Amino acid sequence: MKKELLTNIIDNFFNCNRSEILQIINELINTLKAEENLSCFEIMSRNYDTAQSNPEIHYIPGNLKDARDAIFPYFWGTDGWYSKLHMENVKGPANYASLIGAIACLLKNPNLCVDTYSQRSNELELKAITSLANLVFYHTKNPWGIFTMGGTISNLYGGKIGIEKTHPNAMKRGLRDVKLAGIVSEAAHYSNETLAGWLGLGTDNLYSIPTDESCSMDLQLLREKMEEIYNGKTTIAFVIATFGSTDAFGIDDIKSIRQIINEVSAKYNMPVPQLHVDAAAGWSLCFLNEYDLEKNEFGLSSEVLSVVERLRYYSMGIQEADSVTIDFHKMGWGHYPASAFIVNNREDLKYLFRSKEELPYFSEADYRHDPALFTLETSRPAIGPFSVMASLNGIGLKGYQILVAHSLEMAALLRKKLNNLEYCKVINQNCLGPSVVWWVLPKGRDASVIYEKLVAGELSEKEYTRYFSEIHRLFEKRKNVLNPEIDASLSFTTAMGYNPHGIAIPAWKGVFFNPKTDESVVRQIIKSIEEL
Ligand SMILES: *Cc1c(COP(=O)(O)O)cnc(C)c1O
Repeated sequence: MKKELLTNIIDNFFNCNRSEILQIINELINTLKAEENLSCFEIMSRNYDTAQSNPEIHYIPGNLKDARDAIFPYFWGTDGWYSKLHMENVKGPANYASLIGAIACLLKNPNLCVDTYSQRSNELELKAITSLANLVFYHTKNPWGIFTMGGTISNLYGGKIGIEKTHPNAMKRGLRDVKLAGIVSEAAHYSNETLAGWLGLGTDNLYSIPTDESCSMDLQLLREKMEEIYNGKTTIAFVIATFGSTDAFGIDDIKSIRQIINEVSAKYNMPVPQLHVDAAAGWSLCFLNEYDLEKNEFGLSSEVLSVVERLRYYSMGIQEADSVTIDFHKMGWGHYPASAFIVNNREDLKYLFRSKEELPYFSEADYRHDPALFTLETSRPAIGPFSVMASLNGIGLKGYQILVAHSLEMAALLRKKLNNLEYCKVINQNCLGPSVVWWVLPKGRDASVIYEKLVAGELSEKEYTRYFSEIHRLFEKRKNVLNPEIDASLSFTTAMGYNPHGIAIPAWKGVFFNPKTDESVVRQIIKSIEEL
């Protein structure tokens, strides 16, 4: 081959051309700045029509600017969720300490599959996992874990360990001739259905326990369901508790769940199910575990202090769990993907080894240096460890306390203001977290009375269907008339998690995720509701 053909490609794409790269990064950041300066950022419309029918690959080798040009319209057409008016979900701006970590990671492009490919990046994973483990398990001696592609996959690891613990060597033998079940709450994330299906348990064998008004699993019903399942000669592989449900931020009482599953499984002489905690959304509330309520350094209001105090009981419960899911790309304000699956006792990882024959090789050195021995994934990105350590040490423990406390403060403020309006009702009044779900009914209606009647079972289907459609209609009305320059973007859920008498409750939803979302945004939400 003519040598210059290859040289040209190496020069453009395999030599780090600092000025060219910095220039393009600068241009991309300029674009972000330009977006910020627009009084109203409207996302470009999509062109799916020809995306598939008209793909393109340049013919002749180009340069980095060609790379830039190929993605630029899609970069501009993507919302970075930096706006303080975004309140739809636990989705928001990634912090810039995380960006530093992520860029460092991309420059080296480590593969966490084995440490011979990534050396100190695997060591960083150990450090990041241990930091997070100490935070959520409080004081734990022997934790271990890995970063995964997302909360769904982290939950899947928890479910898989449960299956292996209760049906030994399922990895090899499969699930033939066994009856296995799993348990979650009705407010649990739908990823639990995903894992029940993908692990071969079957979604039909995943049981959802109704919750109380705070979207917390009903403990008596959990006990009864376990007895019913055991009476049917079925093994319960796992119970997945929720620490922060996606809509209402319901929190399960993990300490009590631990007692119940130990008691009931012993009574029926069955193996204890894996107790996994899905804290994908809620884990960062643990930052406030050690906030000094007496000193109240941040000057938090009495409402927020009370939330922090009540939270403590529930977050201390996480240490009773066998394993936990943490999404750092949610309330860690990190980049995707940065989800961690962490076990309280590293011995539990032995259940994930491919086959019993591999167990003799289960030594500390092996699984530290070669996580691919037990991970679902083979190649794994290191964005998680880099994002976590850069963020935790940039922002700091106190910085995270400030961020989380601010979210709680804003949620408390919105609750208070909504409850002053007779035709509004906060539905997750006693939930401890940054989400508010509420009703807006036509003026003249007494939302609290209607809610009490619904909970008491005193509304006919015709009546509540009518109220629910009013709530939805008003949401749509606001959406159609809102001013995108000042009005927050909210979302609508058709089932907030608590289902009294089996009735799914729809509601407006707002999440205080963006640190910039402030009192003025809350006041404007109230104003926009009053003007409907
Ligand atoms: C977001 C979320 C998940 C799924 O996490 P991904 O990272 O999106 O896969 C699971 N459980 C809860 C409670 C969540 O909020």
